[in-house]
Amino acid sequence: MAYDFDLFVIGAGSGGVRAARFAAGFGAKVAVAESRYLGGTCVNVGCVPKKLLVYGAHVADELEQAAGFGWTLEEGHFDWGTLIANKNREIERLNGIYRNLLVNSGVTLLQGHARLTGANEVEVDGQRYTAEHILIATGGWPQVPDIPGKELAITSNEAFYLKDLPRRVLVVGGGYIAVEFAGIFQGLGAATTLLYRGDLFLRGFDGSVRTHLKEELEKRGLDLQFNADIQRIDKLEDGSLKATLKDGRELVIDCVFYATGRRPMLDNLGLENTGVELDARGYIRVDQQYQTTAPSILAIGDVIGRVQLTPVALAEGMAVARRLFKPEQYRPVDYQNIPTAVFSQPPIGTVGLTEEQALEAGHKVQVFESRFRAMKLTLTDIQEKTLMKLVVDAETDKVLGCHMVGPDAGEIIQGLGVALKAGATKQQFDETIGVHPTAAEEFVTMRTATR
Ligand code: FAD
Ligand code: NDP
Repeated sequence: MAYDFDLFVIGAGSGGVRAARFAAGFGAKVAVAESRYLGGTCVNVGCVPKKLLVYGAHVADELEQAAGFGWTLEEGHFDWGTLIANKNREIERLNGIYRNLLVNSGVTLLQGHARLTGANEVEVDGQRYTAEHILIATGGWPQVPDIPGKELAITSNEAFYLKDLPRRVLVVGGGYIAVEFAGIFQGLGAATTLLYRGDLFLRGFDGSVRTHLKEELEKRGLDLQFNADIQRIDKLEDGSLKATLKDGRELVIDCVFYATGRRPMLDNLGLENTGVELDARGYIRVDQQYQTTAPSILAIGDVIGRVQLTPVALAEGMAVARRLFKPEQYRPVDYQNIPTAVFSQPPIGTVGLTEEQALEAGHKVQVFESRFRAMKLTLTDIQEKTLMKLVVDAETDKVLGCHMVGPDAGEIIQGLGVALKAGATKQQFDETIGVHPTAAEEFVTMRTATR
């Protein structure tokens, strides 16, 4: 049967754009449908605008440090409207770049909501298209627990477009987004509380990292409330909000920001017209090669709920394009040792196993840990400490994990990701010459095991 397209991609986000562009580059006839915004979550309401706001908040640190270096500054004033307008302009520029990338690589771009009408058929705005392969790359959407007053809360989607910076913010959740946005709001001047239901936020991260970040955030005056959860939210007469906690306490704030995870975006996708099944968590079930239970339909990125990071969606998109249209270049995605950063203030960088995971996996573990005040702060009154930690297999000397909390952690951990992928040993770390004077050199100068 002749199809309209070799590949029909649903969703022009990180994974979808990568798969579409490369498939077209390999000679396939490709269409991509996008209902909302080119570039997807990462470009529009994720990584990119988030990092721009983090930079904005970080300026407060630089201003605070300036006096130690001899600078006298007049009292600064921050304008949220300017930051958001500038951010919006940059996002629009990136939307245009994504459009050009697709169009210039010969991809047919369809603007509208796509709905599966069969295993080889998609409908966009009433028009039906057939394709030999269909790729679902529809991403995720914020998930807010069903509590009375939930409609009064915002999520990351709305936070990027707030008209004004709220005076008092309550951030709910203890994952990446909660910690990052708590830092943004607080850094820009809002009185910020972070509420997390468990004992300590960032479950799954290394224990030393979690404790260290907690201490540093407290030093910065962030109000951390652990073992706490919201029961209901009410609007008060003066327009502010009242959050009633499960333990009976009441907090009055101007904004409640929920960052309690994301669900797969499957709304009106028409999966019922196909044989595509979901897994126990509600994400699209795929095999090792991203094939769903309907053989002509594949899925990648956040919608399969494996690792919800842009570089992972990109790698999956590339793997699909190669497997379908350039099989001789196909290589499976390596899910081991994925480096990642949390852009909190200070940020976290991490790659490989946590100490807890290494022990659980049966390794005999040696830990090298260092806490120090960064050189840059020595001329200031700021007492922030940087944490660096190596988790090493005592029997093979292989470095299993690298963890950091401190300035530029994301930048530093990227290089260590290469070292771990190459299987570096602690001895090879020790034999690597440091770059002096940097904070990063600490990773190659930790000689004595702390435990
Ligand atoms: P998406 O990028 O979400 O793209 C899916 C696209 O599909 C969307 O454009 C959507 O409009 C479209 N779509 C959905 N349904 C349909 C339909 N039926 N028809 C047509 N189009 C449809 N990751 C990092 O690595 N680093 C970070 O710093 C980072 N920060 C983040 C900050 C925030 C606030 C958030 C929310 C996420 C962040 N992430 C970050 C995660 C990252 O954004 C995602 O992992 C990544 O975008 C997933 O890519 P994707 O292709 O699976 O989906
Ligand atoms: P996460 O899954 O990282 O964290 C969700 C948080 O919400 C957890 O602390 C969880 O607690 C808590 N939670 C879940 N359900 C409830 C509930 N019903 N009531 C109260 N608390 C709840 O999700 P995020 O939304 O922060 O981010 C989504 C994903 O996006 C991340 O996992 C990450 O993959 C990606 N991302 C990456 C970034 C980066 O690379 N820098 C930045 C932002 C997002 P518990 O731990 O107890 O389950």
